[in-house]
Amino acid sequence: MSMTAHVMIVEDEEPLSLMLRYNLEAEGYRVDIVERGDDAEAVLREVTPDILILDWMLPGLSGIELCRRLRQRPDTRALPIVLMTARGEESERIRGLTTGADDYVVKPFSVPELMARIRAILRRSKPGLLAALLRAGDLELDRETHRVRRKGRELHLGPTEYRLLEFFMQSPGRVFSRAQLLDGVWGRDVYVDERTVDVHVGRLRKALGNGRDPIRTVRGAGYSLNEEMILK
Ligand code: CA
Repeated sequence: MSMTAHVMIVEDEEPLSLMLRYNLEAEGYRVDIVERGDDAEAVLREVTPDILILDWMLPGLSGIELCRRLRQRPDTRALPIVLMTARGEESERIRGLTTGADDYVVKPFSVPELMARIRAILRRSKPGLLAALLRAGDLELDRETHRVRRKGRELHLGPTEYRLLEFFMQSPGRVFSRAQLLDGVWGRDVYVDERTVDVHVGRLRKALGNGRDPIRTVRGAGYSLNEEMILK
């Protein structure tokens, strides 16, 4: 079970959902997109994300009705929900909040503002999940500034290498299979070959520079953040 925050977006406007996915993934979130309200209701019986970004206007089942139903289910009663509404629906905002959304944004909204709200909600609902600073051995990863330092010196990682390192640093010493890394770093619904993991682990090692290799290859099993380095 990964500690990367998992965001589910329920929105049928593809340009918006893809733009949100892009921005959320860049911040290290794992993102799923569902386009219909009724599909989301079904998917949420199988998967519980850490937060739901829910559009009001959806095919199949409206966001507001889905929100109401989720609040009645014991397994989703406490699921954090941010409702997205269109400008014309602003007068309905109060109804949205009383239906149980934790927050709302009015389209067109600023993406950094939505990101800030998501972080604020997750900090309340899952403290620890978004610890701003992760440390392991001589490595330091700052999730607010996206900076990575080794022995105090700043390193420059690509976005995938950053997420990979963040994933490892959330569970130091734990061995992850390539499939688990794909699931936690790339996401369940992205088709990527398992060899891609090896390529990015290689890039990460290179970016981490000289000195002791912080990533341990576990033959036949996968990779982990090297315990010896963590104990250093
Ligand atoms: Ca919509």
